[in-house]
Amino acid sequence: MLALAAASLARPAHAEWVNRTVDGIMGTRIVVELWADDQASGEQAIDAVIAEMNRIDLAMSTYKPESEVSQVNAHAAAGPYRISDELFNLLTTALEYSRITEGAFDITYASVGFMYDFRKHIKPTDAQIKSALPAVNYHHLILDAKHHTVRFSQPGVRIDLGGIAKGYAVDQGIAILQARGIKHALVGAGGDSRIIGDRFGKPWVVGIRHPDHKDQIILRLPLVDTAISTSGDYERYFDENGQRYHHIIDPRTGHSASKVRSATVLAPTAIRTDGLSKTAFVLGAEEALRIYSKLPDVDAVMVTPEGKVLYSKGLQPPDEAGAAPAKP
Ligand code: ADP
Ligand code: MG
Repeated sequence: MLALAAASLARPAHAEWVNRTVDGIMGTRIVVELWADDQASGEQAIDAVIAEMNRIDLAMSTYKPESEVSQVNAHAAAGPYRISDELFNLLTTALEYSRITEGAFDITYASVGFMYDFRKHIKPTDAQIKSALPAVNYHHLILDAKHHTVRFSQPGVRIDLGGIAKGYAVDQGIAILQARGIKHALVGAGGDSRIIGDRFGKPWVVGIRHPDHKDQIILRLPLVDTAISTSGDYERYFDENGQRYHHIIDPRTGHSASKVRSATVLAPTAIRTDGLSKTAFVLGAEEALRIYSKLPDVDAVMVTPEGKVLYSKGLQPPDEAGAAPAKP
């Protein structure tokens, strides 16, 4: 007994991998994995990340009537509504991504989007879409930097941050870990993840799944110090009469955006990858690649409805990027 206690005292506190998965925050699965000096400090760091995710969920969820975003939806059509610095900055960033993606990313999608319930197989009628669609347009969102207010320029406008809040939360989680001196970690929220450092001296490996087969990996990406977001039409959906209704909405039509089956974006931050990962669904893979090619820090992989896999320049496999054609 004594010998055993002495042995454990002599052993230095040792670094180790600590990980946790939590379901149900921001309507999704949160994953945190990190390399910590010891188990206890690792667990405390994860506690802090989870607390931050819960805080963001409380502020941003449109499912919670008391959330700040729900309050904006309730009041901003009547006049300027004062909001927190945090929400003001996030709305500013959301508008930036609307401009970068030429309107494909648009948090006012929710003016129509709120009428869908994919779990309950509910969708708006064509008449409902037609009457709500004029409210979908990011130009209706008026931000006043001096007074920190937001206003909707017309009635019927609603916003939803489901397309960017997870990326934001992941970046916040990474910042919390970095502030604690952690140098190797992965933080993921649903389709949005970010990695700092490597894993046992090797890259982290993130798989991109086949749109129709959950367990089939079509591509494995070795990653270090990057964020990655995947959007897919298989995440929240229902099928009816041979048609798929899913959670990414084309702001121009109010219908599900179906120009690709999945799109994965790589960039330094998760808010950026989240803000960009919906583009190809709305505009198509070619247009998305045109937009991404203007952003030197962005790469992408897309799966078309025909099952073709398209890559941005930085990820093109060597045989497609100009290998000599096979000799006849
Ligand atoms: P995840 O929620 O798994 O991160 P995505 O990043 O693909 O998935 O985001 C999908 C979510 O984005 C939808 O559930 C919805 O809340 C929101 N959304 C849908 N269409 C748009 C759009 N055109 N622009 C911005 N956000 C959108
Ligand atoms: Mg996302």
